[in-house]
Amino acid sequence: MENPISISMLNDFIFCPVSIYFHSLYSGVEKNLYQGKSQINGTKAHETIDNNTLSNKKDFLYAKEVYCEKYGLIGKIDCYDINSKTLVERKKKVTTVYDGYIYQIYAQYFAMTEMGYDVERLIIHSIDDNKNYNIDLPERNKNMLLKFESVIQQMKDFDMDNFYQTNAEKCKKCIYAPYCDREVIDNDVD
Ligand code: SF4
Repeated sequence: MENPISISMLNDFIFCPVSIYFHSLYSGVEKNLYQGKSQINGTKAHETIDNNTLSNKKDFLYAKEVYCEKYGLIGKIDCYDINSKTLVERKKKVTTVYDGYIYQIYAQYFAMTEMGYDVERLIIHSIDDNKNYNIDLPERNKNMLLKFESVIQQMKDFDMDNFYQTNAEKCKKCIYAPYCDREVIDNDVD
């Protein structure tokens, strides 16, 4: 059996596969040493969730560990509302619903349904401005489902030695750029 893919890595992979390497490398290091303010805020939002401190109401499941055999995925959900059968993924602040966010909640959805839970709604929640973004179930968005499956396959086939980042804009925004030998620098001068 192949090693399962961590659900939390889907978004990192879309941004840049090399960032997963750095993410793992620095996972035990004090975050202040390398993360920017916005990343630290996002991490804090998730720490609250992971530590299960938001609520222990019996109608909700928080940070439940899940596994999906079909796609070979492992990780944790954020929140599942048992009564409304809704999976919620909370983010510090959502300005754009990136495909990576949708792939993460799809992964949680497939794992939960495979484990026998009913899931009827998917929501991405923006904590700072208290906004909800409804996400279609994968069965209702075939195009997004195909993209999700394609990313999973790309992750399984990924070959680090032959990967070259081509998008200098990503490197400009990347917190790992100071340590990365794949960084692309845009030499265009405005
Ligand atoms: S600096 Fe560029 S190549 Fe390196 S991890 Fe970041 S985005 Fe990827």
